[in-house]
Amino acid sequence: RLLADVIPSSDIGVTFDDIGALENVKDTLKELVMLPLQRPELFCKGQLTKPCKGILLFGPPGTGKTMLAKAVATDAGANFINISMSSISSKWFGEGEKYVKAVFSLASKIAPSIVFVDEVDSMLGRRESPGEHEAMRKMKNEFMVNWDGLRTKDTERVLVLAATNRPFDLDEAVIRRLPRRLMVNLPDAANRAKILKVILAKEDLSPNVDLNSVASMTNGYSGSDLKNLCITAAHRPIRELLKREKKDQAAALEEGKPLPALMGSADIR
Ligand code: ATP
Repeated sequence: RLLADVIPSSDIGVTFDDIGALENVKDTLKELVMLPLQRPELFCKGQLTKPCKGILLFGPPGTGKTMLAKAVATDAGANFINISMSSISSKWFGEGEKYVKAVFSLASKIAPSIVFVDEVDSMLGRRESPGEHEAMRKMKNEFMVNWDGLRTKDTERVLVLAATNRPFDLDEAVIRRLPRRLMVNLPDAANRAKILKVILAKEDLSPNVDLNSVASMTNGYSGSDLKNLCITAAHRPIRELLKREKKDQAAALEEGKPLPALMGSADIR
């Protein structure tokens, strides 16, 4: 069951080139993650250069946090373990502790690896939240213990990348374990144009399309919203073609009606 959440590095299929804009975040991630994963010997000498074991990506929904985490794993040749709240509660109900232990043990075995915790606020939110389920509390503790355990074994090269849309809901203990926090914000017009360019890179685009003008009309859109806009636009000519074909077919049927049908129709009589 756990293996369903693991993507081998070669199968991730997302690279930094697939991500438009977000240059600063991409550069910081390359420095913080990829270099220590690829050249651990450079970072083991002093306390200050020890590789970072936890990074938080925070920002509005659909801004590319998951894509960034996957691109990091691809570029660093690291395996990707995707943990999301929904998968834990549906597949591992009541067995959260076991799951967490298995995740960290597997992550070490298949290192270099990235444990990506999406919606980290739901799994590792404020400890005192009312009505918190006992099983959830145990799972959180297990997560912390295993996470801390990683810190003593530098060579294992396992990194926890966490993402949230609600950074203020995070438990202090979690914040402390995620010393680097990168904001992944909504794009401005110039960055929306860059994202559109990446999304449409392989499409047969009409020369009349002005991406800067689309970018200026899409204030407040996330990368995900822009992708959906492009999908809707790409389906439009297909819908119109089908409509035209239906109309032509109806017209042809009308013109070519067989004699008995014409005889029975009101306008002949
Ligand atoms: P959530 O917070 O809802 O989990 P997220 O921040 O993790 O969202 P992603 O899942 O990475 O966002 O992005 C959703 C989709 O939006 C991507 O699969 C991609 O198609 C598109 N997208 C988002 N940002 C970008 C970007 N900067 N460049 C290209 N595509 C993007």
